Amino acid sequence: MENIEVRFIDGTIKEYPQGILLKDLLKDSSSGPQSNEVVSAKVDGVFMDLQAPLEGGGLLEWVSLNTGDGTEILRHSTSHILAQAVQSLFPEAKITIGPAIKDGFYYDFDIDRSFSPEDFSRIEAKMKEIVERDLPIVRKSASREEALQFFRERGEIYKTELIDGLPENEVTLYQQGDFVDLCRGPHVASTGMIKAFKLTSVAGAYWRGDERNKMLQRVYGTAFPSPDDLNKHLLRLEEARRRDHRKLGRELDLFSINEEAGAGLVIYHPKGALLRMLLEDFEKREHLKRGYQLVIGPQILKTDLWKRSGHFEHYRDKMYFTEVEGQGYGIKPMNCLSHMLIYKSRIRSYRDLPLRYFELGTVHRHEKSGELHGLLRVRGFTQDDAHILCTPDQLNGEIKGILDLVRDVMKVFDFPYNLEISTRPEKGTIGSDEDWERATQALRLALEENSLPYQINKGEGAFYGPKIDVKLKDALEREWQCATIQVDFAMPERFDLSYIGKDGEKHRPAMVHRVILGAMERFIGVLIEHFAGAFPTWLAPVQVILLTITDPQIPYAEEVYQGLITAGLRAEKDLRNEKLGLKIREAELQKIPYMLVLGDREVRENLVTPRGRSGKSMKSMKVEEFIRMVKEESAIGGESYS
Ligand SMILES: [Zn+2]
Ligand SMILES: [Zn+2]
Repeated sequence: MENIEVRFIDGTIKEYPQGILLKDLLKDSSSGPQSNEVVSAKVDGVFMDLQAPLEGGGLLEWVSLNTGDGTEILRHSTSHILAQAVQSLFPEAKITIGPAIKDGFYYDFDIDRSFSPEDFSRIEAKMKEIVERDLPIVRKSASREEALQFFRERGEIYKTELIDGLPENEVTLYQQGDFVDLCRGPHVASTGMIKAFKLTSVAGAYWRGDERNKMLQRVYGTAFPSPDDLNKHLLRLEEARRRDHRKLGRELDLFSINEEAGAGLVIYHPKGALLRMLLEDFEKREHLKRGYQLVIGPQILKTDLWKRSGHFEHYRDKMYFTEVEGQGYGIKPMNCLSHMLIYKSRIRSYRDLPLRYFELGTVHRHEKSGELHGLLRVRGFTQDDAHILCTPDQLNGEIKGILDLVRDVMKVFDFPYNLEISTRPEKGTIGSDEDWERATQALRLALEENSLPYQINKGEGAFYGPKIDVKLKDALEREWQCATIQVDFAMPERFDLSYIGKDGEKHRPAMVHRVILGAMERFIGVLIEHFAGAFPTWLAPVQVILLTITDPQIPYAEEVYQGLITAGLRAEKDLRNEKLGLKIREAELQKIPYMLVLGDREVRENLVTPRGRSGKSMKSMKVEEFIRMVKEESAIGGESYS
């Protein structure tokens, strides 16, 4: 037998007999990590099971449980255990697919029942049993025919459909006990390696995500390297449930989404509308300060124009169309077109540039019903959208200006964030290779010159250009994509935009599409969860509530109330003849920053005694003093938001 040469990550090179099992090599390795942490190996970048024989040499990296890759393998292996448990309890269940996902895994089953919480306990108990039996997870190769026959005999129609769609002549199967699944792997070596898992929820999901197909039961779960990690995660999930913006949105009476009006369409109630107005005011001020001009375009534009922009060809599936008197219109999914028409409305000189058009533009995009989620994924939303038209020379400065704006705005909300560059998708793009390269380079340069670290997101750009994505982190450490900055040389070409240069000749401007908060709906959803509904004073729809102890204080309460709203504070009053304790509790649930309890003393001395929402009482003060305090607290960038 020949020897093969294995290189380790630390540079050591060793020789082994060809066909040696990776797990035997692991025992021998003096440079590898502790063997009980290793779940898999990468050989020249390709994942392999520990039980696999090593036929050729190469660069070997051990994959341990505590890495992202290791945890993903662990979770995927747990999904197989889930499938095994479900089939042993419900033999009629047909298995489909069960990948690892962010924070966990799922498995889709075709079964004519909805799994109940009791079913969950039974399934988890069965999974535990499978883990305790410490079954080896064995990888086997099989020819297509063998595999097809195997699954056909068992009535696993989804597996045979999957094999039919595979190009290979040989497929791999993974077996643990009497359970066999079609899978590429890799997997942990035995079921006993799964130390901490939990089933989290169940939902309906169409086979292959297609609503014409059968509805399956998707069971979600998660797994972690240790029980401690799992518990931390479960606590975080509980906290996320407590902060769920759909629940808080109802409790704080901010918004609703009504199936009668349409899924994914948000209806703002008075307090939600006020919250949005405050955000919009903030945005308008910040943009005007930075040389943007406010514009407003129509909600529908002729279909022919969408054809010219490329939206019809590349984005049609997400657009809504309407036709009146034989004329087709598309409801806008993006705000770019009117902005380009404004640009084109007169001859532009290099002296006019850059032009920065800002619009709080409402757009509609058809998202699949299964993907809708409260305010976070909707069909109608308003973007804080801007299009910058500039000379190619100005591009760098403009991108830097946008990055500064992102920094300033994120600071106001106390959001840390990461930056990513999304590059050209493999298919369905417009524009030349050269344009894409120039645009990507412009984004990269602006980040590098500002010494901002970034990651590359391969193939995730828009159809018309690459982009910088800003991912903010909320109070629960979850990432949300809000701001994006996209460079586009294609659209100015399609619309034949030009400016007269210093040389007196016509030139093509560059275009930047950008949003800062992104969709207002989504950003409000994130804010609700980030602050758990307790908005900072400048954003709180109600900043102060007046509570009377008994009826004789009502005239004074009315007087104070008038004073507050005249001064621009957002105030409410609770003059009901109810117990004070109850009124305070209700105001606390509404997360109003300040309560003013008015008793006989306050009336007599013409004072107010503020109480913060955390329960802390403050010293009594004159109404004017209270107003000044709230106003100071509500000032952002020198502007008061009360
Ligand atoms: Zn698998
Ligand atoms: Zn745009």
